Amino acid sequence: ADLFQSPDYFAVDALFTEEHRMIRDAVRAYVKKEISPIIETCAQEAAFPEHIVKQLGALGCFGPTVPVQYGGGGLDYISYGLMMQELERGDSGVRSTASVQGSLVMFPILAYGSEEQKMKYLPRLASGEWLGCFGLTEPDHGSDPSSMATRYVEDGDHIILNGAKMWISNAPFSQVAVVWAKDPSGIVHGVIVERGMEGFSTPTTHNKWSLRASATGELVFDNVRIPKTNILPGVTGMKGPLSCLNKARYGIAWGVIGAAMDCYDTALRYAKERIQFEKPIAAFQLQQKKLAEMITEITKAQLLNWRLGVLMNEGKASPQQVSMAKRNSCAIATQICRDARQILGGMGITGEYPVMRHMMNLESVITYEGTHDIHLLITGMDITGINAFK
Ligand code: FAD
Repeated sequence: ADLFQSPDYFAVDALFTEEHRMIRDAVRAYVKKEISPIIETCAQEAAFPEHIVKQLGALGCFGPTVPVQYGGGGLDYISYGLMMQELERGDSGVRSTASVQGSLVMFPILAYGSEEQKMKYLPRLASGEWLGCFGLTEPDHGSDPSSMATRYVEDGDHIILNGAKMWISNAPFSQVAVVWAKDPSGIVHGVIVERGMEGFSTPTTHNKWSLRASATGELVFDNVRIPKTNILPGVTGMKGPLSCLNKARYGIAWGVIGAAMDCYDTALRYAKERIQFEKPIAAFQLQQKKLAEMITEITKAQLLNWRLGVLMNEGKASPQQVSMAKRNSCAIATQICRDARQILGGMGITGEYPVMRHMMNLESVITYEGTHDIHLLITGMDITGINAFK
């Protein structure tokens, strides 16, 4: 009963099933019990709370849409979205851990892996016994990953992999990496690289001001010898990584609204309690404008997410629709966090409230999985038919 009540200005709750609400409340209760009490310290100390990996697995947050036979939850996309929303209400770093594991590591193995690969990796990733990461971005190739330099040569029934990936979430704690690399003819393939393979290392990225409770690192491949059976047989070309990003971006569209809700709720309470000029600051029009715009944008995003979830369930959501939702959610959540921070005045910059942490986290989320600009260009290309990337 004392669980956080989401802002729900347009009765979006009524669009969810009983099961959806139960799943959401279970993750909400988990975040309240296990994440909220520790997350500020983790972020301040830039420490990834590794023990939550098994908890998130037990809760079903890793690959909720993966079929039960492979250890997943067999749930629909609305359930997945609600889980990401609740995790990100806790912290974007925690949600990132789950997004990467489910959408960027488990999904490609499910969609493109051999039966042996699925049986070996999916149950262990679903339970959180193993943590995985997704290596696409490189030091010199971010928004344009198809120009990647990481490549392999063939050596009998093995490949020899060379190159480096950068900005890889979960990397320092991962047992498994799904890495996108070019074969000798320049075609992109997915390769499963395991910790312990000689020549493979995962140096940690330090000094981030954002997603401090999430571990980020590099993936370095120095003549790593990998069995050919570790190549994902079911996909070639950029369709592989892009289809994974599509799933993860869907989760982000929901996730960041959790962070926005937490900031809105914090700012609303604060504005009603904080007295200046003998009135609660909520009585001033300037503060009401901020709060009213926050709830308006949250409500619009909730409805967009719900509709996108229905389309995902029907297999009808286009990547362009996912791009629009990811971009919109990140933009409005970032603005809401910044406005909430101002409503809190000086207190807004402290760790006494979650607002500055969410705000700094979202500076990564608005950039990763396709930047704010890139998603706009995707919409632009979709509606005009003209590619403005190059
Ligand atoms: P760039 O591509 O160099 O872009 C710089 C600027 O130029 C941006 O504003 C961009 O919008 C703009 N720009 C680029 N091209 C164009 C164009 N054609 N037209 C107009 N503007 C353009 N990657 C992974 O593979 N796996 C991960 O797990 C992962 N986790 C991450 C975690 C964090 C904390 C961060 C910060 C990043 C992570 N990334 C990950 C990488 C992320 O996806 C990239 O940072 C992102 O794709 C942008 O690439 P870039 O940083 O190289 O920026």
